Amino acid sequence: AAKAAGRNTYQLFAQAMHAQNAERLDLEREMRNGVQAQQFVAYYQPKVNADGELLCCEALVRWQHPALGVLSPARFLPLAEETGLIVAIGRQVLLAACHDCLRWRQSGYPDMRVAVNVSSRQFSHDDLAATVQSCLDDSGLPPDALELEITESLLLDNLDAAIRLLQALRALGVKISLDDFGTGYSSLSYLQKLPIDTLKIDRSFIQHIDSRSSDAAITRAIITLAHGLGVRVVAEGVETAGQCAVLVEMQCDLMQGFWFSRPVPAQTLAAMLGQRLGGQCLLPEESAAE
Ligand code: C2E
Ligand code: MG
Ligand code: MG
Ligand code: MG
Repeated sequence: AAKAAGRNTYQLFAQAMHAQNAERLDLEREMRNGVQAQQFVAYYQPKVNADGELLCCEALVRWQHPALGVLSPARFLPLAEETGLIVAIGRQVLLAACHDCLRWRQSGYPDMRVAVNVSSRQFSHDDLAATVQSCLDDSGLPPDALELEITESLLLDNLDAAIRLLQALRALGVKISLDDFGTGYSSLSYLQKLPIDTLKIDRSFIQHIDSRSSDAAITRAIITLAHGLGVRVVAEGVETAGQCAVLVEMQCDLMQGFWFSRPVPAQTLAAMLGQRLGGQCLLPEESAAE
């Protein structure tokens, strides 16, 4: 009986594995078709300064799946990474971001900039610099309007090679941003070695910044350190007026999060240009008086 039960369990397990594999293969096939059919599109989330001015935005990929609707990266990025499809998807997002940003600049916002995420698979793909250059050429976007967001995980394998690639990218004129700072193996000595322009403080530090004094202390120290090294600071995941007020008081350069706007399609972002986002939390005197 025990043997039979074991066999049943095994059969159930095998069936589940089979179903999982089939699902994976379906997803992979759909993803390949989706790349051909240009179903991967860029949404954009504003980055604003202490006055609520929209100066930059981050491109965040979405899959407009014909049956399932708009899918977030969590649903498909892991498999896109694993299969290498992220290289093709990433190039489409990069090119779209360059085109969209140029359009915004030409519509009366000549200083508008765009940031695009680069994953480790794209980073280790040997012609990233050539891809970036060709997207700039195809679109006509000036290089200094483009920022690439990388994470510390890209630096683990071979720090020297990573630094060389970052230098090559910067030689094109694009800016480099270190994303999710504080989550990985952040060593402070990295900051000194890395050719970066901006550092993005991870959402996990921002979440409780107005209630947890340790998170506030760490954030304040990161901002001071970054500014001392000539690096600008962006806070990600700003969701409340309270968080925003603390960050403004700490002289954080740019802020990004649901408090200002969720990621939106390109046309929606175009309609937000020139607006002040975030409301009254941006006035430090008023928030101090509360
Ligand atoms: P990320 O680059 O750190 O992007 C920030 C993520 O936080 C985005 O999730 C964004 O929608 C979300 N977010 C923004 N503000 C808030 C907030 O106030 N509260 C909360 N709870 N979340 C907020 P999303 O769009 O799902 O992207 C997840 C990750 O997928 C990104 O993290 C990035 O690592 C990756 N990713 C997105 N687009 C691309 C892409 O085009 N290429 C590559 N290689 N990776 C991408
Ligand atoms: Mg990012
Ligand atoms: Mg981030
Ligand atoms: Mg993140």
